[in-house]
Amino acid sequence: MSKTGVLTVMSGFSGAGKGTIVKGLLADHDYYLSISCTTRAPREGEENGREYFFVTREEFERMIRDNEMIEWAEYAGNYYGTPKKAVEDRLSEGKDVLLEIEVQGGMQVKKLFPNAVLLFVIPPSAEELLSRLRGRGTETEEQIRLRFEQTAREIHYIKDYDYVITNDELDKAIEKINAIIDSQRVKPVFQEDSIQALSQGITHLIDSSELGKKD
Ligand code: 5GP
Repeated sequence: MSKTGVLTVMSGFSGAGKGTIVKGLLADHDYYLSISCTTRAPREGEENGREYFFVTREEFERMIRDNEMIEWAEYAGNYYGTPKKAVEDRLSEGKDVLLEIEVQGGMQVKKLFPNAVLLFVIPPSAEELLSRLRGRGTETEEQIRLRFEQTAREIHYIKDYDYVITNDELDKAIEKINAIIDSQRVKPVFQEDSIQALSQGITHLIDSSELGKKD
């Protein structure tokens, strides 16, 4: 148990810069980024097994039935879910795992993994969010409006997250997240080996004839 890695959930508004932050996090840390399954069609440049595992609805529903997902949600008409095995294997190897998922999934992870740390990424302002979404050029104005409506709904979930990261300066946001992940390791649950060894050492000394001897 104490050798387990830290499980981090990153959620945030579409256009808040989660993707860029994740790239920055992976650039200089050995995190494992979980690859989700989705039923949505690949976008241009996306590859099966790299951005997502692109599966049919039938296959996705089978995975749900066979309990192969840690969490899953329906988002904008498609299924998205985190395959269980890869994440559990990495965590038990002591590797830190990142999930970049939306809020309904985040809430499921929180229930299932009480030691997971939940981060929510926000843009510095609504205007900045709009200009980033427009600048990205991947959505029509109508799709942007839908994304804004989605954002308005997601705001209510922020209070259930552990940390809010404002993505105004990318490097600072990345630094903060690395520090948060690092700080989880000094929590008692991640220190069980040290605590147990110390406890055994203390018991041993109490039981031995060592204590109380030295003048
Ligand atoms: P997109 O279609 O833009 O790649 O992703 C849409 C939303 O689905 C994003 O908010 C993304 O974080 C979320 N998402 C991606 N993978 C998963 C997943 O495995 N589970 C859940 N619940 N959401 C996911």
